[in-house]
Formats: sequence, C-alpha cells, structure tokens
Amino acid sequence: MQKANSDFDVIVMGGGPGGSSAAAILAEHGRKVLILEKETFPRFCIGESLVTETYWPFQRLGVLGHMRKSDYPRKYSVQFVSASGKESQPFYFYKTNPHESSITWQVPRAKFDEMLLDNAASKGAQVRQGVLVKDVLFEEGKATSVVVQEGEETETLRAEVVVDSTGRNALLAKRLNLRRPDPFLKKAAIFAHFKNAHRGPGIDEGATLIIYSRENQAWFWYIPLPEVVSVGVVSSPSILFEGREKNPEKTLMEEIAMCPAVSERLENATLASAVNVLSDFSYRSSQMAGPGWILVGDAYGFLDPIYSSGVLLAMVSGIWAADAIHEGLEIGDVSGRQLGKFEPKFVGGMNAFRKLVYAFYSPSFNFGRFIKAHPHHLKNLVDILVGDVFKEEVHNIFKDMKEFVDLPDEDWTVQRMTS
Ligand SMILES: Cc1cc2nc3c(=O)[nH]c(=O)nc-3n(C[C@H](O)[C@H](O)[C@H](O)COP(=O)(O)OP(=O)(O)OC[C@H]3O[C@@H](n4cnc5c(N)ncnc54)[C@H](O)[C@@H]3O)c2cc1C
Repeated sequence: MQKANSDFDVIVMGGGPGGSSAAAILAEHGRKVLILEKETFPRFCIGESLVTETYWPFQRLGVLGHMRKSDYPRKYSVQFVSASGKESQPFYFYKTNPHESSITWQVPRAKFDEMLLDNAASKGAQVRQGVLVKDVLFEEGKATSVVVQEGEETETLRAEVVVDSTGRNALLAKRLNLRRPDPFLKKAAIFAHFKNAHRGPGIDEGATLIIYSRENQAWFWYIPLPEVVSVGVVSSPSILFEGREKNPEKTLMEEIAMCPAVSERLENATLASAVNVLSDFSYRSSQMAGPGWILVGDAYGFLDPIYSSGVLLAMVSGIWAADAIHEGLEIGDVSGRQLGKFEPKFVGGMNAFRKLVYAFYSPSFNFGRFIKAHPHHLKNLVDILVGDVFKEEVHNIFKDMKEFVDLPDEDWTVQRMTS
C-alpha cells in the first residue's frame, strides 16, 4: 500500500522501454505509479533491431498482438558481410528453434516506444510527458522524492520507490557516482536513416546486416525499417574523429564511401534524417539498487550495439524490477537487497553477452573456427546471440572459449549490492 505521506507507490523516471515495462507491470499489480518523461512522444531513439527473446517480455506486457499487426519488418536472420563484400549465409533463428518467438522485428523506436508507453497508460500508469526530473531526494539514506520541472514550474513528488530508467542520462547512477566505464569497450557510432536503400528479397528483407569495414577495425549496422534503412558505423573514436573536421554527416558519408558493401546498397539512397553521433556508451553501475531506488535498462548499464541486446535488457530489467518492487511493498521491505534481488541473475546474462562482445572485437578470434573445434557449444552460442542468456548453462561455453580469446573479468565494477 502507498503510505499516507507519499503521492505515489512508485515514480518511474524516463518512459523508454525500461521505464514503460516497469510501469506497466506495477500498474497491473495494482500499484499507483507515475512515469515522468522529459520528451513528448513520439521521439527518436537509437536501438532499432531486436533479439528474438524479446518475444517473452512482449508476451508478459500483452503487446504481442500489436507487434504482429504492425508494419515493422520481420527479422528472420542476421547476416555478416566481410570487408571485401563476401556475404555469409544468413543465420535464420527459426532453424534452431521452429517457434513464433524465433522471428522478431526491426522497430522504428519513435512509434515502438510510444506504443509501450501507451500500453503502460492503458494498464493504469499515470504518464506525464515534457517533464524533466531534476533530482532525487533522500531522507536518512532512503530515496523519498523527486524534483521535477515542467516549463517554469518546479515541484517535489513523493514515492515509496523511485525507478531510474532515464537511459544513458542515468540520472541517479551519476548522482550517486556509481557509473563505471567499460575498461576496453571505448567505441563511438555515427548513424542516420536513408530512403530508397537496397532491401534483400523475401524473408531476407528484414535481415540485420553486420558489415565489416576498414580491415575489421570498423563495422556497419544495416537495419531495414518501414520506408527507411538505418545505417550506422561503429569504431574507436580515434578512427572516426581524429584528424577530421567536426562534421558527422561528412564523416558518415566518407566511411560509407570506404566500404563498397554499404555504398553499393546506398547507391540510389538519400539521407532521410539528421546524422547522430554517440560515444563512450559502454558502462555499468557498481550497484543496481539501494533503499527506495533501483536502476533499470541503460540507466544501469549498456554493453555495445553489436548484438542488439539493449531493448531486451531494458525490458527484462524493468519487468523484474517491477515484480521485486511490488513484492517489497507487500512485505514492507524496500531495501536495495529486496529491490535488486534479481541482480545476480540479470548480471549473469549481461556478462554472457559482454564476453561475446569482447570476442567480436578481438581481431584473432573467429566464431566459425571456435565452433568447428567445439561443435557441442553451438547451442549455447545461439542461445546467447538470441538473448536466452539468463541461465547457468550458457556460461559453459566460456571455459573453452578462453583458449581462443582473452575474456573480461566478471565483476569489473567491483562493488555489488549489499544494503
Ligand atoms: C549506437 C547504439 C546503437 C544501438 N542499437 C541497438 C539495437 O540495434 N538494438 C537494441 O536493442 N538496442 C540498441 N541500442 C541500445 C538501446 O538504445 C538502449 O539499450 C535502449 O533504448 C534502453 O532503453 P531504456 O528504456 O533504458 O532507455 P531509453 O530508451 O534511452 O529511454 C530513456 C528515457 O528517459 C528519458 N529521460 C532521460 N532523462 C530524463 C529526465 N531527467 N527526466 C525525465 N525523463 C528523462 C528520455 O527522454 C528517454 O525517453 C543501441 C545503443 C547505441 C548507443
């Protein structure tokens, strides 16, 4: 129950996939929940390709019907294209698991995020858009309220629990100095949408292409969306920015021109959006939850764009946080230990993805060669790539993979939840 002196059971800061998933489940549990979102939706966000395991959060949230009816391209596969233009066989997910959950979608995030936010509202969450959260206030170490600004007006709203789902802004993680950059993954991305870009035939129309460039020191994503294709280049900031004028559009066009497999696909295409730049996006918080607060989605951490894991991890952490918060409110325990009780399982899944990210960026590592040497690991490898990462057995693969590639420490952020 909401306490007499609180305005809400839960305040959710940020209405992206993490926040709206948490709010939808809390509202379903009968909780009085408020989402505070600084933008007015629909708003652009990067992160347009999904992994197939996102099916299960969609099912839990009751939005599968919406996804099935949408015009979002169906993603049946991922295909790798070498720097010289040689295409791998597309990897069709349904071939290893012939079930509807093995086909996913490429999502224009403005529409997709708005759908998830509307879904939370339809379940009873209150939503305020165009409202900036400025700060979280604490009393005796417990988060108790948030300071919000709408236009010229500032107000303070109280809640039993505050969820930080502010994405890369990571309001609370920064305020509490919990954010740790990944020691190795220091990448940057430049990206935009293009009209009249090439699309594959039949079921390959919605395939994600990963195209290597610059002798494997850079790679492109090529993600077909309704009407446009999302194209982005990822590499180290030194490769993308050093010795170049600060002109993202020019840099993106130069990178495209250097990569025939991309430039051929964009031969008749025109730029259909602003060109955006993001860098230093790989980080994690040293703590997921504390008294009266919890971090979900990118506010907790983000790995890397390569395996399209961000939306899945945001939705899963939002849903698991909502269940832990509801249970905590039922039993009168909103300690960090209660709210973040799923942290070890969640972090285990994130770590599995992270090790494969390291393998991807290791020049000497080759997934094909590894599976040839250890064919029995194929299932675990596929499980990780589709996002079925929250189970012990997927980690079996890393004992043998260590012989092929340096893998990162599990607990690089050092501190884990205690209070
Ligand atoms: C280059 C790049 C490519 C990516 N590609 C993919 C991909 O292909 N597939 C994939 O799954 N993921 C991808 N991601 C990751 C994906 O973008 C994120 O993981 C995902 O959006 C996280 O969802 P979220 O809800 O945590 O945060 P967000 O989606 O960022 O939502 C946070 C919300 O909080 C709001 N907000 C922020 N601050 C405040 C405040 N102070 N007050 C109120 N509201 C606030 C924001 O306006 C925003 O709406 C990519 C990321 C990068 C950097």
